[in-house]
Amino acid sequence: MRLRHLAMELSKLPPHPQHNVELEQYATEGDFAARWIAEMIERGDLDASTRVVDLGAGNGILGIGCHLAGCASTLLVEIDPHCQHEYEGVEWFIGDVQDWDRDNVDLVIMNPPWGAQTPKADRPFLEGAFNSSATVVYLLHSKHSTHLIPLAESLDWVGEIVLNGAFRLPATYAHHQSQNDVTEVSVWRFNRL
Ligand code: SAH
Repeated sequence: MRLRHLAMELSKLPPHPQHNVELEQYATEGDFAARWIAEMIERGDLDASTRVVDLGAGNGILGIGCHLAGCASTLLVEIDPHCQHEYEGVEWFIGDVQDWDRDNVDLVIMNPPWGAQTPKADRPFLEGAFNSSATVVYLLHSKHSTHLIPLAESLDWVGEIVLNGAFRLPATYAHHQSQNDVTEVSVWRFNRL
């Protein structure tokens, strides 16, 4: 599927309701998700044999992107039942990120809560991914995060930034970004040491 077509398909998904501030619900946009997925394909991390889990999936934009790119299976893990919608070919686990099945996954993709509302809210996401059967983990976080690489290394993973972008925050969060509602984000790619 061409990049532009993928971006268009993803932009058509039901929007994330973004109604729960505590859960830090800021949604990835279609064109950025498509760029991210193209990057994973180019690096040989996503193909027809890859079982994907999307943690804190929201409307599923990242995991559904992997599904449209032809991965083997997709599980969307999300605590907020309002995010769930029918989408053929993907499965949902509506529940806490502590409780998903970590034994049947090759690639974890996530844009988790960053921990701005509840400190360390991203920890169970990171620790779950690094303690799963996955061989590669992709993560979107604030560009200025410094805790990710040390945390990964403490669990025998290494990581680097592979993509940068700007992220529009919903109005509920925008007041944290003094003048504007755009924040810089990066995508990290981690693999085992
Ligand atoms: N991945 C989506 C949504 C990102 S926002 C996207 O990129 O657009 C982060 C998501 O994590 C929200 O949908 C929020 O409801 C979910 N979330 C927050 N805490 C969670 C938890 N403990 N378990 C599972 N999901 C959680």
